[in-house]
Amino acid sequence: MISALMPNYNRADLAFEQGQGIWLQTADGRRFMDFGAGIAVSSLGHAHPKLVHAIAEQAGKVMHVSNLYRVPQAERLADLLVQNTFADSVLFCNSGAEANEGMVKMIRRAQFENGHPERTRILCFDGAFHGRTLAMIAAGGNPAYLKGFGPVVEGFDHIPFNNTNTLRDAITPETAGIIVEPIQGETGIKTADVHFMKALRAVCDEFGLYLGFDEVQTGVGRTGKLFAHEWSGIAPDVMSVAKGIGGGFPLGAVLATEAVAKHMTPGSHGTTFGGNPLACAAGTCVMTEILAPGFIQQVEETGHAFGAMLQNVVERSNGVFDGVRGLGLMRGLHCTLPVGDVLSAVINQGLLAVTAGDNVLRLVPPLIVTPADCQMACDRLIAAALSFSPAKGDTNKEFAS
Ligand SMILES: *Cc1c(COP(=O)(O)O)cnc(C)c1O
Repeated sequence: MISALMPNYNRADLAFEQGQGIWLQTADGRRFMDFGAGIAVSSLGHAHPKLVHAIAEQAGKVMHVSNLYRVPQAERLADLLVQNTFADSVLFCNSGAEANEGMVKMIRRAQFENGHPERTRILCFDGAFHGRTLAMIAAGGNPAYLKGFGPVVEGFDHIPFNNTNTLRDAITPETAGIIVEPIQGETGIKTADVHFMKALRAVCDEFGLYLGFDEVQTGVGRTGKLFAHEWSGIAPDVMSVAKGIGGGFPLGAVLATEAVAKHMTPGSHGTTFGGNPLACAAGTCVMTEILAPGFIQQVEETGHAFGAMLQNVVERSNGVFDGVRGLGLMRGLHCTLPVGDVLSAVINQGLLAVTAGDNVLRLVPPLIVTPADCQMACDRLIAAALSFSPAKGDTNKEFAS
């Protein structure tokens, strides 16, 4: 008989009862270092006292009122985002896929209002992941995610990621905009080159297209900048955010310039839950912590050190890992054995991580992680790698002496 919970996930047989910082604990007392952070979500770690307090306090006042009324908590969080990004205006929603849907709607609506109703198509990239709604599986283009779900939503074109040669030829009179992840997360932690990012901006400016960044996974401090596109020195017209912004509370957002956002007139778009007082109290707490002096600098430094430690893991992994990917605290280790087997071995060492496409083990710890935590995680990664073939070929100095 089918389980009460639908069988659409491949769940590890682990249930966590309590978290604290980067640690998660099962009911029977086993403790794990959480370098998955619920897929890059628990940005402040588990049971962060300020976040717990902010949510409890708001829940005790009012959780939800609807967007029929002003929501001061949403106004405050929007102000914080506007003050610290390219954006002039913010729309809140509840998830990454929903934020991306909003982003595509804004791009199309702005083209429409600017006298280009024919410009509706969105240029996307091979290996993209934008979520699991009907339109976003079309935007991602992954055949496995489209299979059996009926007609593919029209309007999304795909070209190779990180390839500037194919870019201009892919633009047609119907192209409205481009959407891209600054680092492709789900499909293997593939970082967009700075010159590719700059080329996207240049092509959008030349052809009158809107540039949309999907920063659902890369955003909110993850890479050592508030948003990953800051590394490339260019800004989008519109950007989707989710995952880390609620610190574990479901919250998404679309950030846009005035030129795009001004077309979202009353009645044009909406959501019942989006930007409710409880979600925005959580988001404001997370953003306030991340914007506190020194926090992002700390993420950048720890992320940089983590990258070097992971390089050392590759060298000492007896060939199980053969490359480090990513930026800051969004990292991938490319595996030479099936990543599912590697993940099981890693979990056996008391470390949680997430698989990604391209046979990559994804490491996205809470942003509060310390260099000492990273070193402990790396020791566990090495132990996991060596568990496949104990000590064989482990020629590091300690072992040899
Ligand atoms: C996770 C993710 C999404 C989808 O977010 P959901 O909250 O699961 O809908 C979209 N884009 C990127 C880049 C993501 O990492």
